[in-house]
Amino acid sequence: LFAGESLFVKGVVAMSGLPDADRMEVCFAGRSNVGKSSLINALTGTKGLARASNTPGRTQEINFFTQGPELYLVDLPGYGYANAPLAVVEKWQKLLKRYLSGRQTLRRAFVLIDSRHGVKDVDEEIMSLLDSSAVTFQCVMTKADKVKLKDRERVIEQVRTALARHPAAYPEIVLTSSEKGDGIATLRSIICGLE
Ligand code: GDP
Repeated sequence: LFAGESLFVKGVVAMSGLPDADRMEVCFAGRSNVGKSSLINALTGTKGLARASNTPGRTQEINFFTQGPELYLVDLPGYGYANAPLAVVEKWQKLLKRYLSGRQTLRRAFVLIDSRHGVKDVDEEIMSLLDSSAVTFQCVMTKADKVKLKDRERVIEQVRTALARHPAAYPEIVLTSSEKGDGIATLRSIICGLE
């Protein structure tokens, strides 16, 4: 699946804009600055594919990337923007809910958690939304290179405890560093295993 090239397809702002559900897809969610763009770039081996900095104007978009001809990687930006207007947040949440509960080809969501910070309230919210949408999700710890082993273990324990409360959570946690490349091959093979 990861042999082919990766391209940005489109940013979707309404259900009518979704590309045809003609291939498997996985989506990525996480607070802004968690390292989501870096992870998507690392997974696809395409520098600059996902924007390395999200601009507020694009927070309501669901961004689709192809990875070869048989896989979509879907970037779900847009949570943890405390200063976005309420109407914008509500419109976004509605689209997100409809996408998550209606997308037949969506095989798994990856919820990105910063290895330094653990699960925050907004992460809990997205996890609950995934529960209610019946989308299996798996936690990916980002920026693993930034924490010492001892601190990392403490954070992983906190994540494990949080996951235990969510019926849609897949128990295995993936540790990654987009900077060092750790865990990227593991994550690719997890995605390939979803076929
Ligand atoms: P996004 O907002 O979730 O898309 O986050 P970005 O991918 O833009 O990353 C936010 C910041 O964290 C940037 O300065 C990245 O260079 C940095 N970053 C992302 N991944 C890693 C990582 O694995 N290790 C380190 N040390 N920094 C990272």
